[in-house]
Amino acid sequence: MSAYRRLILPSTLIILALLLRQHMVGLYGEYGQLFDWLPYFLIVLSASLAVFFNLSRNFIATVYLLLIYLLVQNSLQVTLDDFSALYTFTAICITTPFITLMLFLMPEKGLVNKHGAMISGIAILIALLPVILLVIFNEQLLEAYINNYFSSRPHEAYVQSITSSLLFLAVLVFGIFKLIKTNEEFSAANVSTLIGFFILLSFFYIEKISTILIAANAIILIANTLRNSHNLAFRDELTGILGRRALNHRMRSLGRKYAIALLDVDHFKKFNDSHGHDIGDEVLKMVASKLNAVSGGGIAYRYGGEEFCILFPGKTADEAGPYLEEVRNNIQNYSMTVRNSENRPTSMEKAKQRRGRRKLPRDQNNTVSVTISIGVAEPINKRQKPEETLKNADTALYEAKKKGRNCTMVFRG
Ligand code: GH3
Ligand code: MG
Ligand code: MG
Repeated sequence: MSAYRRLILPSTLIILALLLRQHMVGLYGEYGQLFDWLPYFLIVLSASLAVFFNLSRNFIATVYLLLIYLLVQNSLQVTLDDFSALYTFTAICITTPFITLMLFLMPEKGLVNKHGAMISGIAILIALLPVILLVIFNEQLLEAYINNYFSSRPHEAYVQSITSSLLFLAVLVFGIFKLIKTNEEFSAANVSTLIGFFILLSFFYIEKISTILIAANAIILIANTLRNSHNLAFRDELTGILGRRALNHRMRSLGRKYAIALLDVDHFKKFNDSHGHDIGDEVLKMVASKLNAVSGGGIAYRYGGEEFCILFPGKTADEAGPYLEEVRNNIQNYSMTVRNSENRPTSMEKAKQRRGRRKLPRDQNNTVSVTISIGVAEPINKRQKPEETLKNADTALYEAKKKGRNCTMVFRG
């Protein structure tokens, strides 16, 4: 999935939340109160899931959400003319982008360990900084500071100061760059919750806006945690495409008409031997990305090792043929630049020496290309199980190898 597409769901959720708000405002009495409890319910759910799946960033983001909601509910139900309310509001406007920035910068290494404790510690420090400042400096000084730097607003209806808006914007731009570069699931959630906070704080006076947006942010985090665990189960770690478990799952729900293709990299053992396992892994990633771009409704899976599978629901083996030939050609024509194997340093020490001595000249780099062989099969009768079709595809693959590799063979019974 592209980086931008990861933003579609969360942004739809925020828009939906804003549209829903109008209706929520109309709820009075018990229903209205129930609505105020919704964020707490979602926050508890989100935090529990983050602990269960051992995700430090999702946990910290959720606890921060709770902190903000508690502050809004208990300290910010008055006008901002009051110093303590103004101070709390300004503090939230500054700490939010910083906490978000920290979450962009920290890698995910689990919650219940040293790393989790460390980033929780940093988060607590950032959140406590306004309190510490309040202890160190006197109120007048801080009030003067806020009036000097955090009071100018572009419009009456826009509550946030220009300064903190710029801070938000800077972190948002950074986050979007990070998302595009890494295409990481959590970065998309972090960008989205930052936008949620930004709208919340900018239009703070709109009734129930905090309740609805805190709830939306909690849902974004819950969805992110669930997605993460789904990926863990169904995606292959090296290549990022779907894995064997996802294939087994999909094979259970195939109709009568489908084609299964098995694809195997040619002479990959030799390739590993002459270029090294790491470059072998790079090649597998490249092959996976080409297979993943298959058209004609095909779905690519890593079957295991250097073997892949493409399912074509609703197509016969002959109909799938041209799409398979297309990916086979794409892989054949792709040349990857790798460091010349003879120049490959054999030890860390040598590598260091070499790095110090020279920059690897281009002409010492080799380009390599790989080819794949493909076997494809369709069910030969109505009762045939997909597992049997898969075996037939394997037979066809074996024939493709025998025929000289780099070709596609259809199973003919
Ligand atoms: P053929 O054309 O007959 O398929 O020859 P081959 O060498 O590709 O066949 P074989 O199945 O014997 O070799 C597969 C090799 O793939 C063995 C192993 O070294 C390599 N391999 C399997 N999984 C991985 C992986 O995850 N990373 C790397 N780098 N190599 C892998
Ligand atoms: Mg093999
Ligand atoms: Mg092979």
